[in-house]
Amino acid sequence: MATMPYDMSVDTRDSLTGLADLGAAKATIARWQHDWPREVISCPIHAMMITLGRIDNVNVAFGESAGDGALVEVAQRIKHFASDELDSTAWLAARVGGGTFLLLSRQQCSRERWQWLAEALADAIAMPIASPQEDAAHLRLWPRLALLRVTEKDDADRVFDRLAELANRMRQGQGRRIDWSTGEMEVSGRSFRALEADLLAAIDNDEIEILFQPQYALDDERMIGAEALARWHHPTIGRVGAGSLFQIAERADHVAHLSRHIAQRALEQAVHWPDHLRLSLNITPADLAADSFAMEFARLAERTGFSLARITLEIIEQVLLADLDRVGHVLDQLKVLDIRLALDDFGAGFCNFRYLKVLPIDCIKLDRSMIDGVLEDERDLAVFRAIIAMANALDLAVVVEGVETEAQRALVAAEGCEYYQGFLRAEPMSAEAFLRLVEG
Ligand code: C2E
Ligand code: CA
Ligand code: CA
Repeated sequence: MATMPYDMSVDTRDSLTGLADLGAAKATIARWQHDWPREVISCPIHAMMITLGRIDNVNVAFGESAGDGALVEVAQRIKHFASDELDSTAWLAARVGGGTFLLLSRQQCSRERWQWLAEALADAIAMPIASPQEDAAHLRLWPRLALLRVTEKDDADRVFDRLAELANRMRQGQGRRIDWSTGEMEVSGRSFRALEADLLAAIDNDEIEILFQPQYALDDERMIGAEALARWHHPTIGRVGAGSLFQIAERADHVAHLSRHIAQRALEQAVHWPDHLRLSLNITPADLAADSFAMEFARLAERTGFSLARITLEIIEQVLLADLDRVGHVLDQLKVLDIRLALDDFGAGFCNFRYLKVLPIDCIKLDRSMIDGVLEDERDLAVFRAIIAMANALDLAVVVEGVETEAQRALVAAEGCEYYQGFLRAEPMSAEAFLRLVEG
């Protein structure tokens, strides 16, 4: 057999973002092609190169540390996006230098879907990036995405060269935000406008599926409840992750409608659960923007017969960046109703501790990026411990998300966290499967 041009075991990382670096990305393509069974058609690899045009200006205008912070944030968004939208073992995100990133996927995927994923990712990256200084302006980056379907003739170098050449042309042309290396766009690519209409129909036809992911106590492994997570299977573009689902809803101003639908369906399922189990629901900034949210939510829950005292609402930090006084008022109303409040994705953003002091939060949910490195890196562990100590000082319970290995579970238990949720114990599952699990 010919010698491989790459050391396929390369697993090197970009030190700023923790993503794979260029060498590791090329080695991954080579390994995927090498490992793919020969009798089957060629390995289905798709690639996109994401370039942030203005990152140099950011360094000049805001300083290098703001530029680095923005790159770390973009890396997080790419990682979160990929894990929401793609099968867990079949993708790789890399930073290949400066403001240039790569996303690779090895799974059957139509051109239409890959293009749609690129559009959704571009939108996610273009969302404002909060500045760590409270009164500073938010930053926005406008990415360009070069797309490629890898053919048998492409080795890893050629994949990279073709993408880089296209990215370069796109930068000079000031034209499209997204383009294919073949030059042809997917003409039937579904526009966001069409998707918005599809989404309304899907809500009406009850095609949004709700999955439940169990949560457990770390001290004795008993199940304490489950988080409801939404899914949408679109007939042509396939699975739409919850993040994109809400992005589409937001553009069309349907967030409240969608949230209400999900809450109602989840509550209707949860009334069949044993009394000791709690239900966690995610709410968006748009939900909290309505002053009447607390009352309307309470009415909805009461109609289904599920006790408010068994509900936890999970909110993300982004909510709090908005109008603190007004949001605080809505949260106070929810507290009066006996609903518990959790601060979601804690540690993924800037962790402004002030919010925890002034708002009636009961618990924090540590983002899974927080436990990524704690087992290997002393500094990650130190940050982790500081957050737990702060939570204890403020009398907040801690739920750890994304626990995938026994070693992680043992560590977070030893560090004094109360609860956890993650693939180690259970993935999100259908309402029926969840009932079987609790009754079994
Ligand atoms: P989230 O609230 O942080 O939800 C946890 C996400 O982590 C879920 O992704 C879950 O499947 C995933 N997860 C759980 N355990 C593990 C693990 O061990 N490893 C890994 N890699 N992932 C794990 P999902 O369902 O794709 O949801 C993504 C995000 O979309 C959610 O993040 C939430 O922000 C939003 N979302 C989902 N459903 C809803 C909803 O009904 N309403 C609202 N407003 N947002 C939702
Ligand atoms: Ca959540
Ligand atoms: Ca979370």
